Amino acid sequence: MRNFAFDTATSVQAAAAAASLACEAMLAPDGGAGAPETTIVKSGGIDLLDLMKEGLLAPAGVTSLSGVAGLSAIEPQSDGGLRIGALVTLARLASDETVRKLYPSLADAVGASASLEIRNAATLGGNILQRPRCWYFRAAEFRCLRKGGGHCYAIDGENQHHAIFDNRFCAIVHPSTSATALVALGAEVELVDADGATRRVALEEFFVGPDKDVQRENDLRPHEILTAVLLPNAASLRMAHLKLAQKQSFDWPLVDVAVALDLASDGTCRKATIVLGAVAPTPRRARAAEAALAGKPVDAQSAAAAGRAALEGATPLSKNAYKAPMLETLVRRAALQAASG
Ligand SMILES: Cc1cc2nc3c(=O)[nH]c(=O)nc-3n(C[C@H](O)[C@H](O)[C@H](O)COP(=O)(O)OP(=O)(O)OC[C@H]3O[C@@H](n4cnc5c(N)ncnc54)[C@H](O)[C@@H]3O)c2cc1C
Repeated sequence: MRNFAFDTATSVQAAAAAASLACEAMLAPDGGAGAPETTIVKSGGIDLLDLMKEGLLAPAGVTSLSGVAGLSAIEPQSDGGLRIGALVTLARLASDETVRKLYPSLADAVGASASLEIRNAATLGGNILQRPRCWYFRAAEFRCLRKGGGHCYAIDGENQHHAIFDNRFCAIVHPSTSATALVALGAEVELVDADGATRRVALEEFFVGPDKDVQRENDLRPHEILTAVLLPNAASLRMAHLKLAQKQSFDWPLVDVAVALDLASDGTCRKATIVLGAVAPTPRRARAAEAALAGKPVDAQSAAAAGRAALEGATPLSKNAYKAPMLETLVRRAALQAASG
């Protein structure tokens, strides 16, 4: 690993002033000095140190956010929503009583992510901003599109864990499991720059697909810090998050699904939000599946129709067609679980 300077910021503005984007600090194609001017912020460090040890990320500086006060709070809002600081760990989020009561799908999604050791260090902000797990992206030998090369090796290669939607240019899947649940809940992210200016963006809009920019996964700007996730009041919603993975523990999902339902008193679905994870470069709204539930009771028949509709637009690659039936089943099960919750 290349040597780097390390410091700890004590304010959001100071951290933002230092912060470059992770994609700006990727090691140069010649394997040389990397990007000498870049400084990367560190939260839990799980993904950051992985990338540095793998020889992919070579910042000149690393600035820890651990000295910044106020980023570790979980605060109920006057409108019934919740503000979750970016440094709240996944372990705390999974066990927090308020989160579990108001947003059980989020608590389940983060509680089933990674391992307890990782969840104890990994933060919500870092989880949302982690880089893709694609093995071509993670291997220094492959100069793929996302690293400034000219080719996506997965599209015609070993693509068993890759996208079955929106995979024309680059077939990564979005790595964040929390993001699947958060998008279904209508979450926003709060971003603060070096001057202290704040913007709030719907998380669904924050993620960037390869058709817009193949070298980054989100709209974080240079010199900006993600300070919090804001959840709207969800008291009237029923929700579920389900995940299927190869291993039962410390593994990313092969497919995950989050469902949020607004049901009338007679059980008719007024509105369904269904988000698919691990199947596209960004968390994917399954609008056809949502339409299959709207105006109907959520029962075995409508849930099965939603599962089938979730596959609309799928373009599986040579080795990942198995994800389609998994997705269909998971959407059906998640809809039924949410309705019965
Ligand atoms: C074996 C294993 C299994 C895993 N399974 C899962 C899984 O099932 N689901 C899942 O979602 N994840 C999984 N992960 C990934 C893990 O959860 C993430 O790496 C972790 O959440 C990243 O959070 P962090 O706080 O450590 O981020 P860091 O590594 O500190 O940061 C990640 C990136 O975000 C930037 N960053 C961090 N915080 C901020 C901020 N507040 N503002 C601006 N930029 C910031 C950093 O510069 C860096 O580029 C797994 C990891 C391992 C090793």
